[in-house]
Amino acid sequence: MGFDTFLGNARAVAAVREMLTGGRVPGSLLFTGPEGVGKKTLALMMAKALVCERGGADFCDQCARCRKAEQIFAAEREDLARRRELKDSARRVEGLVYFDLQLLEPLTKFILTEQIRQLRAVAYTRPFEFPRRVFILDEAQTIHWQAVDLLLKVVEEPPETTSFILVCPNSFELRSTIRSRCMRIAFEPVDQPIIQDLLARERKLTDQQRALAARVAAGSVAQALSFDPAEYERRRQPWLDFLEATARRGDSGAGIDWRQMFDSARALAENRGDFEGTLKVGYSLLSDLLHVLLNPAANAVVNVDLAARLKGWAPKLTLAGIEKLKSGLDQAYRLQTRNVNPQLGFETLGIEMLSGREPGSQ
Ligand SMILES: [Zn+2]
Repeated sequence: MGFDTFLGNARAVAAVREMLTGGRVPGSLLFTGPEGVGKKTLALMMAKALVCERGGADFCDQCARCRKAEQIFAAEREDLARRRELKDSARRVEGLVYFDLQLLEPLTKFILTEQIRQLRAVAYTRPFEFPRRVFILDEAQTIHWQAVDLLLKVVEEPPETTSFILVCPNSFELRSTIRSRCMRIAFEPVDQPIIQDLLARERKLTDQQRALAARVAAGSVAQALSFDPAEYERRRQPWLDFLEATARRGDSGAGIDWRQMFDSARALAENRGDFEGTLKVGYSLLSDLLHVLLNPAANAVVNVDLAARLKGWAPKLTLAGIEKLKSGLDQAYRLQTRNVNPQLGFETLGIEMLSGREPGSQ
């Protein structure tokens, strides 16, 4: 056990361990970087290392304090989940109790003022069961604007026995006043081979599915672990039908397959609850098509299992056609945010692509 079990981001881990070794842990740290690469996991590990009975630059996961830390974090996760379910806003923050190790997450869209108020109230008191306090604020960019000033002073000069670890994807989403008071540790996407190895150990996937999962995850361990090949396939298929209908337009004698286009437009618009997810798959296919058209040797496509098909389609679609599709997707996205049924957007795009009209012309 210990930091050796952490995957990827060796530089971030080394930075944390160096602070622990030297006993020079800054009062306030900021972990930033892409989603799903382990920022919160490393924060929880660091909290354990700060209280582990064996001391040093690691944690053992076996001593009484490490085990207690594990229990506390589990209880806090449960408490957060329970509070999020509550409809009544007053009850949601009723009876907040802060332990020496504390994981704070947004209870609504925000980390609420009351959560920060309670944090401040205990931050200046002596820790009661551990040698020190560690507050982890996950999704720190969601701290309610009214609470920022409350937090500012304590983050700026935490009591000697208190450490703050703020976790957020993009440090520029944080108020500069908070950001400037924290020592920043940057995380990066996890390398493909590390993710592939992990998938080989943890999940039953075929070689092809594993390669696809690693590419789709784009460096996110969490995404790779939760990748569902069947679900991805289900989402991708209507795009493939749509692209196929468009690519075939140029084939002599093939005629225009309007039916396939309309069917796929309907299928694409079906899952409106997760329309962004649908569009994301579409964008990944278009960017793959650009890759195979402009830089075929690079082998940089996300949809690795389709490389041969994409290579066949790309020249038929042409660069101008792919760009047209891309602006069509942008348009579908805008329509959807205005609550217009995206099916209309896809149908219009399909008609324009298949009939060779310029998008937007009447
Ligand atoms: Zn320990």
